[in-house]
Amino acid sequence: VPAPVSTALQHRLIDGRAFAAELLDRVRADVAKVRARGREVGIATVLAGDDYAASVYQRRIDRHAREAGIISRPVSMPADATFGEVVGKIAELDVDPEITGILVLRPLPEHLDDARVFERLPVLKDVEAQHPENAGLLALGMPRFVPSTPAAAFHMLDRYMVSIGRDPRTAYDGLDLVLVGRSNNVGKPAAILGLQRNATVISAHRHTYDAGRLAAHTARADILIVAAGVPGLIGADHVRPGAVVIDIGINPVTAPDGSTKLVGDVDTEAVLPKVRAVSPVPGGVGPITDAWVLHNTVVAARALATAAR
Ligand code: NAD
Repeated sequence: VPAPVSTALQHRLIDGRAFAAELLDRVRADVAKVRARGREVGIATVLAGDDYAASVYQRRIDRHAREAGIISRPVSMPADATFGEVVGKIAELDVDPEITGILVLRPLPEHLDDARVFERLPVLKDVEAQHPENAGLLALGMPRFVPSTPAAAFHMLDRYMVSIGRDPRTAYDGLDLVLVGRSNNVGKPAAILGLQRNATVISAHRHTYDAGRLAAHTARADILIVAAGVPGLIGADHVRPGAVVIDIGINPVTAPDGSTKLVGDVDTEAVLPKVRAVSPVPGGVGPITDAWVLHNTVVAARALATAAR
């Protein structure tokens, strides 16, 4: 009896947990060095309301931070918190010497305007590059912080390139890199990172789909990065043979037995026989993202120490 495809092709799944564990070891060592110089490293996560995914994420960051020796301050505000209350909290964290990184969790409640809140972040503690100054620096190729999810996707790709004997500084030259999703926090910065690696970048999004053109673009991709938030959006017909596929989507779906499980935007089982490699969900980009937030919090601690001199 032949083994099911998914078992025979397991080696094509990129192990995000292994890369995340490595990164967390590095963060732990870096934190120890900063603290040895008498400086703290601390992350504050600001959650307004009770969005399920955001609160799960807040708890994960809290746990990983404490394990890495980083001070963790999860801040929870009610869903009806006013603009003044939220930016007042940010101002408090700005002057808190124990806090080196501040992350405002999305989605914010409807009555709050993301952009107006992000403008109030202190730029040296803005570890997700949510402030327009940091987003602009990233776009110009001189990032203060690389936002965690696109950074995690490219960290995974770079490490994958190394594992197949390619130099990540030249491995993307002239390749077709297709992105699905163009949000400010994921798709758009990922496009910028792809251009900086000399790939030919195509940004597809909801209107590409509505125009019936999504598969036409994705099927050209040497590298396909998907962050749409649509379970199973990408099937076998959407990928080119031998493509490398990075699935950023995290979608809760209800299984027939009533339990909830997380799936990506890619139908992993369907694409496995065709692709060279694909990142799984869970266990792909997600764990690397968590580690990257903490890495950025250490980067911030160092920048703050330099600025204070
Ligand atoms: P978003 O809703 O802000 O943006 C979604 C993007 O996908 C938009 O640009 C939209 O135009 C596009 N899109 C929607 N439907 C589409 C379709 N049918 N075809 C093509 N494009 C389509 O979402 P986001 O914050 O960018 O997150 C995207 C996904 O990534 C979500 O599943 C989210 O949970 C996940 N995510 C994962 C991590 C991680 O660490 N792995 C971090 C952040 C977000």
